[in-house]
Amino acid sequence: MKYAEVAVNSPAAQRRSFCYSVPPQLNIEIGQAVWVPFGPRRLQGIIISFSDTPSFEETREIEGAITSSSLISSAHLELARWMSSYYLAPLFDCIAPMLPPGFERHVECFIEPACTAPVAADMDADEKRLLDWLELHKRARVREIEKEWGKKNAARMLRELLQRGLIKKTEQLSAVRIKPKTEQVLVLQPDALRGMTGRGMSTTSKQDQIVEFLRAAARPVAAADVRKQIKNTSAAVRALLQNGVIDIVEREIRRNPLERYSMEPGQAHVLTPGQEIAWREIHAALLSSEGTPLPFLLQGVTGSGKTEIYLEALSAVVAQGRTGICLVPEIALTPQTIQRFAARFGERIAVFHSDLSPGEQYDEWHRIARGECDVVIGPRSALFVPQPRLGLIVIDEEHEWTYKQTEKAPRYHARKVAIRLAELCRATVIMGSATPDVESYYLAQQQSYRLITLKERITVRGITPLPQIQLVDMRDELKSGNRGIFSRILRQNLIEVLGRRQQAILFLNRRGSASFARCLSCGYTVKCPRCLVPLHYHTAENKLICHHCSYRSMLPAACPDCGRTRISLYGAGTQKVEEEVRRLLPAARIARWDRDITVRRGVHQEIMNKLVRHDVDILIGTQMIAKGLDLPQVTLAGVVNADSGLNLPDFRAAERTFQLACQIAGRAGRGFAPGRVIIQTYTPQHYAIQAAARHDYESFYAGEIDYRSRLGYPPFSQLAGLVFSHGNAEVCGRETRRMLQLLEEQKQVQGYAGLRFIGPIPAMVPRLRGSYRWQIMLCGTALSLFLNSIKMPRGWLIDIDPVGVF
Ligand code: ADP
Ligand code: ZN
Repeated sequence: MKYAEVAVNSPAAQRRSFCYSVPPQLNIEIGQAVWVPFGPRRLQGIIISFSDTPSFEETREIEGAITSSSLISSAHLELARWMSSYYLAPLFDCIAPMLPPGFERHVECFIEPACTAPVAADMDADEKRLLDWLELHKRARVREIEKEWGKKNAARMLRELLQRGLIKKTEQLSAVRIKPKTEQVLVLQPDALRGMTGRGMSTTSKQDQIVEFLRAAARPVAAADVRKQIKNTSAAVRALLQNGVIDIVEREIRRNPLERYSMEPGQAHVLTPGQEIAWREIHAALLSSEGTPLPFLLQGVTGSGKTEIYLEALSAVVAQGRTGICLVPEIALTPQTIQRFAARFGERIAVFHSDLSPGEQYDEWHRIARGECDVVIGPRSALFVPQPRLGLIVIDEEHEWTYKQTEKAPRYHARKVAIRLAELCRATVIMGSATPDVESYYLAQQQSYRLITLKERITVRGITPLPQIQLVDMRDELKSGNRGIFSRILRQNLIEVLGRRQQAILFLNRRGSASFARCLSCGYTVKCPRCLVPLHYHTAENKLICHHCSYRSMLPAACPDCGRTRISLYGAGTQKVEEEVRRLLPAARIARWDRDITVRRGVHQEIMNKLVRHDVDILIGTQMIAKGLDLPQVTLAGVVNADSGLNLPDFRAAERTFQLACQIAGRAGRGFAPGRVIIQTYTPQHYAIQAAARHDYESFYAGEIDYRSRLGYPPFSQLAGLVFSHGNAEVCGRETRRMLQLLEEQKQVQGYAGLRFIGPIPAMVPRLRGSYRWQIMLCGTALSLFLNSIKMPRGWLIDIDPVGVF
């Protein structure tokens, strides 16, 4: 007897796989999809391994195969298993992103009236109405009934009516959501035509026209195209078909997301001497056949030609008969990058992301699986496409937070997963950034990554210095009576840029706005007396809370520093900035680009086009405008509130502030005119702000790594976040306290030294969709292993290596 371990598509399966016996007549392989019995139901499963002995006493039999061949390579299955154990995520959730789009199907429950049963008299009014309703509808989904009658009520009534035999319950698989798209094509049959004319039969003129059209085209033509050319063809087509002159066949057509991008072929640049040195080192590693090369960390200022190096590396890998994946932080924000890839690789690229229509996703996935794409570009989830013979993974802007999945399990980081996948496929990884993640840079310092640097910026003017940055101390503005959002110098520069008919961008760090208390007189931010970090304002409790030690305080009436009564909650939104600009420059054409206005598909492209056409003078935005914009007309970049993010209760606040300031500075002066950058701050002496003003990554890193080592934060430790949510605030508090106790006990039992717990404290977002949220942070090492031994009840969320705050 043969046995198989199967990952089952059920939330109840969690991190386990299940053992089933393989019926002798069933021929299956690893990675194949099968139907398995699971409790009373029949579910989808993926075969992950075989064995001769069962891992469970009583095994049930696999019911049958869903697909005729394997869907997932063994390397990807291994990756999924690793993700499940490292991120403590359900196994099937880790496999799901690797499956073909639309693959997942669930069993749906239907209810029908059982007409034979006598209607009992003792039914309540609702039940009678439900029976009448069912009579009318004949057959309804349980979901529909729940929608009509409410979940609880529906469950109660269905239970009772089933018991009395008044209704029947049946199960059926949900419909296939996505199918290949096909069209009908007309194929001219030359033999049939010859035979027909030989017999002297004449065709009517309409038929002649069609035959002539097909003959001229010299290839099969879509029926729709024939109809467009020749009107009212259906009778003629039918006749031709009957006489065997033509044949009609179904042809699969591709739904092509690349149609949205222009595909002008482009030439590779001759590398600059600096690029050449970087390239030689990477190229040598790509040619080497000794095991998996160390990942590369390519550090280069914005516009230093990193993308050019990625293109070279991908071309080299493709020349070896292998393929590549290029991850970008956010696909909608990188149309210019995609264009450059299309220019180099033409039709042999694929874009893969969740904004594609389901049909497009389906087609791209299958095109990739067939080996038709040299390079796949996409956000973090593109890591899981079935790219055969994978040779290179590029991670552009590797420091970006979008590489971490936070909203659902598995809460993975693409950088970590990419490196694991590369090990499994013996592929190379290149991570690029102007401002590498401190943890990445640390690993490069430790020789775990190979650091390669590009120091020169390339523009149309050739090798160009980075734009000048001016720091403005906003406390001086306050002292001289300027309470506005803009400093005098930023105002002056905005007016000048507009006068020169150039463009400006204004960046606003919205995360952390209105979340801390600051003195309007002296600029002091209210801090924890014990930890000296800024206190965070929680609306729900109307209190300031320390996210290190849980210290709480009321909003102080007077400033603890200067004693004046000018404490207020700080923060300005993009809207406020827009109003100010309008007041200052009524003639300016302004665009706002942030999460609030970009929900609709295609909005990014619209704004982008407007900017490129110079229909916009001033762009105001949040994080989104920091990425990838390459606009030669932008000569001024203003950072409105550089340090507002510094006050977030997050140990990465300084890093984030530095990265954003550098990214924004990188937007100015990319064209023929030099650029200028103005950074407004209340804390000009902070090392992150100082380093950003000098474009000086090394000095930022020195300050940051010192801070991290003193406080024992990553890379000197590992973090894990546990968040509990519940509709009742008291339950929430009680459960998190219970968990903390459990964690303390486990720490004792396992003898875990150097593990600390922070919390419980309310999460940064203390209420979400009606639920209260509390958190506990773990700081230590090998946390997946430690947490593995703890049973998490429902309502808990686990995030290993979290980024940002909960
Ligand atoms: P990064 O990815 O580091 O931001 P890019 O690869 O986008 O840098 O390069 C910045 C600009 O310089 C782009 O417009 C690019 O086309 C151009 N460029 C890059 N390398 C060269 C080169 N060797 N010769 C000429 N132009 C180049
Ligand atoms: Zn504190």
